[in-house]
Amino acid sequence: MDNRPIDVETLKDYLAETLPPEAMARVEKALRDSSELRAQLEDVRQNRGDAGLHSLGAIWKRSRLTCATRQELGSFLLEALDPDHADYLKFHIEVIACPFCQANLADLQHKAERAAPAAKTRQKRIYDSSRGLLSGEG
Ligand SMILES: [Zn+2]
Repeated sequence: MDNRPIDVETLKDYLAETLPPEAMARVEKALRDSSELRAQLEDVRQNRGDAGLHSLGAIWKRSRLTCATRQELGSFLLEALDPDHADYLKFHIEVIACPFCQANLADLQHKAERAAPAAKTRQKRIYDSSRGLLSGEG
């Protein structure tokens, strides 16, 4: 059980709904039990503006909620996603550097590379034979 005191950052994340479900439940319970904490939440709600919500951490947490599936990452590798979706994933993986999706993508890339050599060999053979034809002409 997580017994850390609920701080302002946690309350902000609670309001932004970026906490994992267990943490959301923990804050909710604490709010029920403490009128002091409810007052604090009200303060945070009124003062938060949007400052804290645009920190990289907050963006990461928000984006983490919309991690790509393996299928989406596979399509991304094959450049088969629609451009907006691909842009979003590129941002998610390269700018936000989501470790979860990076790991998934690296794994898929590894599998794709293992499957690729056969195709490359085939391509090379075609290339070599056409080169042979060209040099035969000269
Ligand atoms: Zn992700």
